Amino acid sequence: MVIMMEKEATESQIEHVIEFLDERGFSVHRSTGVEHIVLGVIGDVSKLDIRDLKVLPGVADAYRISVPYKMASRQFQHEKTIIKVGDVEIGGDEVVVIAGPCSVEYKDQVMIIAEHVAHAGVKILRGGAFKPRTSPYSFQGLGEEGLKILREAADKFGLLVITEVMDKDQIGMVSEYADIIQVGARNMQNFSFIRALGKAEKPVFLKRGIAATIEEWLMSAEYILSGGNKNVMLCERGIRTFETYTRNTLDLSAIPVVKKLSHLPIFADPSHGTGIRNKVIPMARAAIAAGADGIMVEVHHDPEHALSDGAQSLYPDQFAELMDQIRVIAEVIGRKIADKRDSE
Ligand code: PEP
Ligand code: MN
Repeated sequence: MVIMMEKEATESQIEHVIEFLDERGFSVHRSTGVEHIVLGVIGDVSKLDIRDLKVLPGVADAYRISVPYKMASRQFQHEKTIIKVGDVEIGGDEVVVIAGPCSVEYKDQVMIIAEHVAHAGVKILRGGAFKPRTSPYSFQGLGEEGLKILREAADKFGLLVITEVMDKDQIGMVSEYADIIQVGARNMQNFSFIRALGKAEKPVFLKRGIAATIEEWLMSAEYILSGGNKNVMLCERGIRTFETYTRNTLDLSAIPVVKKLSHLPIFADPSHGTGIRNKVIPMARAAIAAGADGIMVEVHHDPEHALSDGAQSLYPDQFAELMDQIRVIAEVIGRKIADKRDSE
C-alpha cells in the first residue's frame, strides 16, 4: 500500500501516520518526491481498511498497489532513481557504458583492455574475479588477486570498478576494491545473499535470472531496497528460451516494461544476451535505442585466448566503433554518451 501525503502536510502529520501504522505492526518506508512525501507500507495490508488511512490529517490519497514489489515500483517513487558513483551518474541523461573482459586473467590483460575502453569513452571497468562457471573444472577466477588488478587498472585510467560477488561472505572484501557490486544471473534469487546486499555500502547491479520473470526480478530488487540499500540497478542479460542460434534471448522489451513499472535504472548486456561476437554490436545499438540507461559489454584484446567468454568478446577496435555508433543513437533519443578521451 502507498500513502501519498498532501503537499502541505506537516512533519507531525507525517509522523502521526507512521505511528498509526507502526502500532498495527507495519513497517513504513518514507520517500521524498519532488512534490509529495510518499509512505510505502510493508506488511499484510489486507487487514487494513484503506478509509482509516484516507481520513488521517495530511493524507492526500492512499491506495493498494497490485504489484507485490513496493519500493521498486513507480507508484512508490515516481521520479527515476539516479545513482551517483564517483562522478558518474547512472540513470540520468547520460547512457553509461560498462566494458572490460569477462574474467580478470592477468595484469597486462586488464591494463591493455582498460586503456582501450577508457579511451573509447568508458567510465566503468568490468571484470570477474569470482566467476560463476557451469563446470567446476572451468577457470573460477583469480579471487582477491583479481580484485587488486582491477583496482589498479581502473585507478590508472580513471575508471570505476564493477565486479561480481558470488557469496555473502565476499561482500565486505569485494567492497574494499569495487565501486559497484554485480549480482550474477545465477544468484538473482539467492535470497540470503541478496538480503545481505541490502546492508552493503556499495550500489548493486542486479542481473536478471536466466529464467526469471520481470516480476521475480523486481522482487529481488525489493529484497535489496527493503534492506536499506537504495542504489540498485537492473541488467537484462538474456533469458533462456527454446531458441538455439543465440546463447540466450536478449529480452529488449524488458527495457520499456521495467521503465514503466520501476524507477530503477536498467542496463542491457548484449554479450551474455547473444553469446556471439557479431551479434553483440547490433543488439547493443538496439538496447540504446530501446531506452537502456546503460550497456555492459565484454571486450578482450586477445579473445581467442580468453579464459572465459572469448566468443562473445569484442575486439577493442570493434568496441570503439560501437561507441561511435551509439553516440549517434543516444543523441536521436535525447541522451548522450561520454566522448572519446584524447590519447595521452
Ligand atoms: C558476467 O557478467 O561475466 C556473468 C557471468 O554474467 P551473467 O551472470 O549474466 O551470466
Ligand atoms: Mn562473461
